[in-house]
Amino acid sequence: MRPADLTSASPQAVAHAISQSRRNFLRLATGAAGASAFFGPSTLRALVAPRGKKAVVVTFGGGARDDETFMPDGQENIPHLLNELIPQATFFSQVVNKGILGHYVATASIVTGVYETFNNFAAVSPNNPTAFEYFRKDQKRPATDSWVVAPSNGFARIGESGHQAYGTGLGAGVILPKRLLAAALTSRSDGTRYEHLLRDNYETPLHAPSLTGHQTELNQMAEVLKLSVDDFSSHARSLASPDEMSVYIAKHLMTQFAPSLLWITLHDIDIAHSGTFSLYLDGIKRSDRLCAELWQAIQKDPGYANKTTMFILPDFGRDSDIDAGGNGFQHHRTGDAMSRTTWMMVLGPNVKQNVVVDRAVESIDLVPTLGALLGFNPRYSPGKPLPEVAA
Ligand SMILES: [Zn+2]
Repeated sequence: MRPADLTSASPQAVAHAISQSRRNFLRLATGAAGASAFFGPSTLRALVAPRGKKAVVVTFGGGARDDETFMPDGQENIPHLLNELIPQATFFSQVVNKGILGHYVATASIVTGVYETFNNFAAVSPNNPTAFEYFRKDQKRPATDSWVVAPSNGFARIGESGHQAYGTGLGAGVILPKRLLAAALTSRSDGTRYEHLLRDNYETPLHAPSLTGHQTELNQMAEVLKLSVDDFSSHARSLASPDEMSVYIAKHLMTQFAPSLLWITLHDIDIAHSGTFSLYLDGIKRSDRLCAELWQAIQKDPGYANKTTMFILPDFGRDSDIDAGGNGFQHHRTGDAMSRTTWMMVLGPNVKQNVVVDRAVESIDLVPTLGALLGFNPRYSPGKPLPEVAA
């Protein structure tokens, strides 16, 4: 099948093609026989980076495997991605993460475009400049134009690097909704009703950073987002998960500031570490729905519609069922092909729809791609801009 044939293909045909091509890739990666890629490179376009463009990046939830997403048995978990988003997207079927597979350090690698090597559980800034710093410095943008909504205290320093040429004062604002909720609940007697929203880290019980939010921080957030603490905590009670709270905050940021670069790190899927497969699947289904909700919100918002490119990608995968060194879906310990190989979909006004790009790309290619779109120079990233969506 050639790319031209895909332009008119049904969502089911595209999904089938994706699952086939990814399965073949994984066979090759694990040394088994497999066919070559199904698709050639799509037509490349030259894009000038116009002012006023915006980008929203969503990391898809704490590591999801193909088995529970794009493979035939997993497709029922991602109806929104398959039926609503992929028909409008350019889909990269092989995104390889060659770095450390811990969520904070891996997300920092995606944010900097460099494989960061710090201890995943350390409260440190990335060593290399983040996309937020490149963007704000090169485009002379204010602090309110770049935000991160992150899942846990461990991500508190994701917005700004320790790089001497960037760093202090040039990063993104980071909002940690769980921490704010914890602060909001300190004076309430019904805190136990929110426990499902406050679980901070699924990766290891040894790492349990304090979730104590500060009242001043909470009041600042309320001021910044024009959201009362009472409204925030009562709305939180109606939400099923931390990721829903993150998307709620992200929508407020869009309304208040219309940031040009907004980064949302979903993390519910990582509950897989508990070993409960049904909760892992629930996390995938929720991430699938929330991605569609965000895209719909973008289309309805005059500050975003027709000028926003959205990128959705997992930080990495999870272990395969057949690797003796792992425990299947539960963890991401082995560094096998399945835990390293994910995907990315890109949607936007200048992005070709219903196209699958089957060549292997890397997680660190995202920042140079954002640079080409938003007009910044990612000087320290060895990644390559993806010409299929930005040139
Ligand atoms: Zn994890």
